[in-house]
Amino acid sequence: MSRAIRKITILGGGTAGWMVAAALSRLIPQGSMEIELVESESIGTVGVGEATIPHITYFNRLLGLDEDEFVRKTNATFKLGIEFVNWGRLGERYIHPFGDYGVSMEGLRFHHFYHRYASAKNDADVDDYCLPILAARAGKFQRPTNTPNSPLSSITYAFQFDASLYARFMREFAEARGVVRTEGRVTDVTLDAESGHVRTLTLESGQTIDGDLFIDCSGFRGLLIEQNLEAGYQDWSHWLPVNRAVARASKSTGEPLPYTRATAKSAGWQWRIPLQSRVGNGHVYCSDFISDDDALASLNADLDADPISEPNFLRFKTGVRREPWKKNVVSLGLAAGFLEPLESTSIHLIQTAVARLMAHFPNRDFIPSNTDFYNRKTLEEYEQVRDFLILHYKATTRDDTPFWRYVRDMAVPDTLTERMRQYSETAHLYREDNEVFGETSWFAVMHGQGMRPKTYHPIADTLPGEVLSQRMEQIGAVNRRCLDAMPTHQGFIDRFCKAG
Ligand SMILES: Cc1cc2nc3c(=O)[nH]c(=O)nc-3n(C[C@H](O)[C@H](O)[C@H](O)COP(=O)(O)OP(=O)(O)OC[C@H]3O[C@@H](n4cnc5c(N)ncnc54)[C@H](O)[C@@H]3O)c2cc1C
Repeated sequence: MSRAIRKITILGGGTAGWMVAAALSRLIPQGSMEIELVESESIGTVGVGEATIPHITYFNRLLGLDEDEFVRKTNATFKLGIEFVNWGRLGERYIHPFGDYGVSMEGLRFHHFYHRYASAKNDADVDDYCLPILAARAGKFQRPTNTPNSPLSSITYAFQFDASLYARFMREFAEARGVVRTEGRVTDVTLDAESGHVRTLTLESGQTIDGDLFIDCSGFRGLLIEQNLEAGYQDWSHWLPVNRAVARASKSTGEPLPYTRATAKSAGWQWRIPLQSRVGNGHVYCSDFISDDDALASLNADLDADPISEPNFLRFKTGVRREPWKKNVVSLGLAAGFLEPLESTSIHLIQTAVARLMAHFPNRDFIPSNTDFYNRKTLEEYEQVRDFLILHYKATTRDDTPFWRYVRDMAVPDTLTERMRQYSETAHLYREDNEVFGETSWFAVMHGQGMRPKTYHPIADTLPGEVLSQRMEQIGAVNRRCLDAMPTHQGFIDRFCKAG
């Protein structure tokens, strides 16, 4: 007898629930498995989550989406990176770009040559060698061109979109491919007395919903994975202490910027995400250091224009489920864990979890080694992102508030200490496994926040000085020419994908 999964039941219709529904409806041959999604409009969704990283373009391609239609229907803009303001020290700003700086030379990454060059030429600004940063600052955007060796061919981008329109878009996609949506609040969960597996969900109406594989996308509450299966939670708030947010949209005051801004505040930071027709704003803060009222007042004071929505307060605890997959329940999205939104990684973590689930898709035996492998890889991925986020707080010289003194002085995971030491001593950067943030990202944040290595790779010294100067000037000149040729971000949107 086949032990194949016959029915997948997804609990939750937020971004996570509808993303996984859309992906499964695309990847699993239609008719071979039932897919049902249960959600409760009265409970609602978190309603935030508007900035993404470039990997989302792979997800869109996997679904076979028309990108212009996607941008129009989600009120989206394009994103070339994140600007960090006041992080390393007050008054400073830098961009973490989604593309490379310069070019590799002599088999070495560009930043080694930049360090050598800058040691002689103090005013050499690394931004001049990075087209995405120049374009972001100039408010320009275009998709990559097919011109090998040109920086225009490697433009890498993500999107900034309306979270509720995105979930709706995913829902339309999934429903058109056979996913059945059931409205209702789950009030009871039945576990199998012997195996402890989830057998049925019972709705307020009395209706029961069964399934072989349950995907818990119920948000922070983790209704199945935690409230019923008690998978446990690794709490990382001692390293990432922000634990609340207040979000609020405001009117647009001009052309949308092709980047997200994260401005450090006295006890956290504030996001600014420009969409086509409005701006998403939020203040992420630590409640030990600032009250909700003061956090909202600070957000209101920093809006560029009148608010157009009521403040939405959210509470969270940074960390990850100890067993994101337990028995026949796989948790995704906020039910699996939460890493604060500083680098816009949550939607990406949903996407990679879906890919991992497909790679380790179970049958009804739920073979433990398969589940264990999935869990190990998930935890590794969260730890890698966690370290990258902690870097933003640890690599600061700010000491103007108790919050900044705490994060500057806190002990950090050994894995991050090692990375910071390697860079400080030798400018060496590395990417573990297939981790989401590569050397360019680590360089951008370390350099942007004022870390300067004692030395750089010795091979960088083998290039004659005048050759290095010529190459650096040429790289800068090529970038400036490319920038001149690019359309404005608004012009690009107007031409290809203006929202209705
Ligand atoms: C302050 C903040 C800012 C963020 N910014 C970003 C960002 O810029 N980029 C990014 O990638 N991510 C961001 N995120 C994360 C992003 O919002 C989430 O990853 C994403 O929205 C997924 O949420 P979810 O679907 O897991 O949960 P939710 O949106 O909470 O959805 C939960 C679903 O479960 C349903 N449900 C719950 N209980 C029951 C029940 N008993 N019966 C029936 N249905 C039930 C609800 O109705 C809802 O449909 C941010 C998160 C926060 C908190």
